[in-house]
Amino acid sequence: MITLALSKGRIFDETLPLLKAAGIEVLEDPETSRKLILPTNQPDVRVVLVRASDVPTYVEYGGADLGVTGKDVLIEHGGAGLYQPLDLHIAQCHMAVAAPTDFDYQKAVRQGSRIRVATKYTTIARGFFAEKGVHVDLIKLYGSMELAPLTGMADAIVDLVSTGKTLKANNLAEVEHIMDISARLVVNQAALKLKTAPIRRIIDAFAGAVQVPESA
Ligand code: ADP
Ligand code: MG
Repeated sequence: MITLALSKGRIFDETLPLLKAAGIEVLEDPETSRKLILPTNQPDVRVVLVRASDVPTYVEYGGADLGVTGKDVLIEHGGAGLYQPLDLHIAQCHMAVAAPTDFDYQKAVRQGSRIRVATKYTTIARGFFAEKGVHVDLIKLYGSMELAPLTGMADAIVDLVSTGKTLKANNLAEVEHIMDISARLVVNQAALKLKTAPIRRIIDAFAGAVQVPESA
């Protein structure tokens, strides 16, 4: 049995064409099914649905042989024990620092002020500000980061941005582009040794089907 860990939504939807290239079709729709284990047209391949941030953990501990996860999640997890053969170029977005339009971020940085930053991505944020030499107090949140500056709890946020519409709707503007983000295929290293042929077949089919956007 080959088990692939996916998270519902963007990652699931954008992985479907890659699975199709590998001859794999998921037989149930995660948006309507309550099942957490979805069968496929191949009796020896199944999909497990887990929280996006749990995908690396499932693959690390062998709950799944492979998984698809954002680079953001992978960096926060640390990636220990995971073989990362492919950038799938799906779920493309970027990590950014954003601040209220009336907060002079550049001035605060110039003056060496301590900035309060709310984020779910503490490892990425800590690394970015440390390299820049900016003093920050990080506040860990699990969602709706945009709210933190609006309530006065933080000066800025570190969050994923794709269109920028959410930032704009909350009177926030991007002040730093931290890194481009896309989803990666991750593989359990022991599983790769034990089930080399079927896992290689999936990796190769995915590699052949990846569409690299022109901007990348
Ligand atoms: P959750 O809400 O469980 O944290 P999401 O479904 O929002 O997870 O995001 C899953 C992954 O999709 C993220 O880890 C990231 O890599 C990617 N992602 C998140 N937001 C966007 C976006 N706006 N555009 C493209 N990809 C995104
Ligand atoms: Mg989400």
